[in-house]
Amino acid sequence: MDQRGFGGAARVAVIGQGTWDMESADRAAAVAALRRGLDLGMTHVDTAEMYGAGLVEDLVGEAIAGRRDEVFLVTKVLPRNASRQGTIAACERSLRRLRTDRLDCYLLHWPGSHPLAETIAAFEQLVTDGKIRAYGVSNFDVTLLEEAHGLAGDGRIACNQVLYHLQERGIEHAVLPWCERHDVTVVGYSPFGSGRFPGPRSAGGRVLAEVAAGHGATPHQVALAFLTRRDSLLAIPKAANAVHAAENAAAGALRLRDADVRRIEEAFPRGVKPRSLPTA
Ligand code: NAP
Repeated sequence: MDQRGFGGAARVAVIGQGTWDMESADRAAAVAALRRGLDLGMTHVDTAEMYGAGLVEDLVGEAIAGRRDEVFLVTKVLPRNASRQGTIAACERSLRRLRTDRLDCYLLHWPGSHPLAETIAAFEQLVTDGKIRAYGVSNFDVTLLEEAHGLAGDGRIACNQVLYHLQERGIEHAVLPWCERHDVTVVGYSPFGSGRFPGPRSAGGRVLAEVAAGHGATPHQVALAFLTRRDSLLAIPKAANAVHAAENAAAGALRLRDADVRRIEEAFPRGVKPRSLPTA
């Protein structure tokens, strides 16, 4: 599994593991899938206090028990909790559910009504206290990134986690270039469109199948390789099924040829610049 810089500091697995909605899966199967993913190098684990109202952090805590040092653990504070004191209290609750004493990265889940200056001050406090190693944002467009960067300073915002899949390439217009200029890693969420993956009989699905056949890979693996084709990009597919987890992990070694990338870009055009950052 390839590792990449994360905000210019830690090195992180290029393909990680999402956990949204895992509370609705069979718990033992979901825990087994996460552990299988860890075994295969998908050590970047993404969760949030929102997921299952804490149930998913608890499930992740079970999955990583005894192997915390292998994991690059990320969770997110809800915007409504993201005041100066609220962020610190939310972090403490997440640490308890995750059964750990530190996070590798803590994110603001999406922009909310608490002043960003308060959230960033809390993040800095948590770094000083050793509760988090780094922090970042999620669902931030360029205007908000500028504001966060202005408040936090160079090299402080480690990542921006944003929607990025074959049928939604909107971030490529402005968010991705901004992040690349400022050494902010782009973590693409919902890489399979939250389960709305191009069907095998669709025009795009046929292109994916042909590219996949040329590499002895699967269309899902080709999608992940495409979505992580630049050094600034990571992906966090969610799999509550261990077979899916293994398939996703193997994408970490797949290298597309330039001609493959061009074919996929044509089959899934990036379209016009969106008026606002897409989130679903
Ligand atoms: P996703 O990863 O795009 O798709 C998940 C779906 O794909 C599940 O139904 C899963 O099935 C299936 N799948 C996984 N691997 C597969 C494979 N190799 N072959 C076939 N199907 C496969 O969806 P997502 O959960 O929306 O996004 C991923 C993660 O991004 C989330 O879990 C979360 O951590 C993060 N996220 C963040 C935000 C944010 O606002 N920051 C928003 C959305 C998501 P099984 O589960 O049955 O394996």
